[in-house]
Amino acid sequence: MRNVIEINELKKTYSNGFCALKGISLSVKEGEILGLIGKNGAGKSTTIRILLNLINQTSGEVKINGFDPRKDIKLINSFTSFVPSEVSYYGGLRVKDIINYSMRISNVKDYEKANRLYEYLEINPERKIDELSLGNRKKVSIIQALIKSPTVIILDEPTSGLDPLIQEKLFHLLMKEKKNGTSILLSSHNLQEVEKYCDRVAIIKDGNLIEVAEIDKFKSDVLNVTYTKDGKEYKMIWGNSIHDLLKELTKINPDTLEIKKPSIEEEFMKHYEED
Ligand code: ADP
Repeated sequence: MRNVIEINELKKTYSNGFCALKGISLSVKEGEILGLIGKNGAGKSTTIRILLNLINQTSGEVKINGFDPRKDIKLINSFTSFVPSEVSYYGGLRVKDIINYSMRISNVKDYEKANRLYEYLEINPERKIDELSLGNRKKVSIIQALIKSPTVIILDEPTSGLDPLIQEKLFHLLMKEKKNGTSILLSSHNLQEVEKYCDRVAIIKDGNLIEVAEIDKFKSDVLNVTYTKDGKEYKMIWGNSIHDLLKELTKINPDTLEIKKPSIEEEFMKHYEED
């Protein structure tokens, strides 16, 4: 698969001397969702801001579809959408004013699609921005991003402030875009959504990339088995066959039993802490 976003040896030192990115390299392939994860302050937003030409890097290169944001941001914006973590709009505008404006500048005339998105995301286009909750404002920025049918979507913590049902709906919409070949970079600290929807994950820590891997790499093949017998609790980590586990449990004949796969969260954190 072709690399749509390419980040090469990217370094950023802010004017106060703080080095937020220490040389990261990664790519987003055509039609994939890459999750960018890391704790607060790891460098995720800095990376995204450079991709969007909101700030300049100190050194290294980024390219979107082969174009350098420092030179060709207008062109990049014609096929790239961004959903920021915090949305700010002029409060006096109505939802539909913002969406209609976005449609005009992108030369999009599909008002049916806009109506479908209003309905699906449960937002009234007649409402004024300053009457909307944070989550509802975020929906506006999601519709703004999707209305132009972009081939690249960059999202910075997109689900913060959204209720669980709308979070699901957002990912449903993103999966539809992905099916059409859209490439998606998603910064998140919600590891469950990363596990569920991303193809690969890139972990950053203190401005360094510590891992880029397929999600499956973090899925553990062991089982955590907890049981009680005669009032005492026992725990075991089971890495052998299920068949053998059943035989073992029949021998033990426990009073209570719980079998769980370690969560991907535990696996990620192990990785993060070990580095
Ligand atoms: P993340 O998005 O992963 O939470 P950021 O990219 O926002 O992290 O920030 C990375 C580091 O850079 C943090 O330590 C942050 O305090 C620092 N930083 C961000 N913006 C600036 C700035 N304008 N000047 C100085 N330091 C900054």
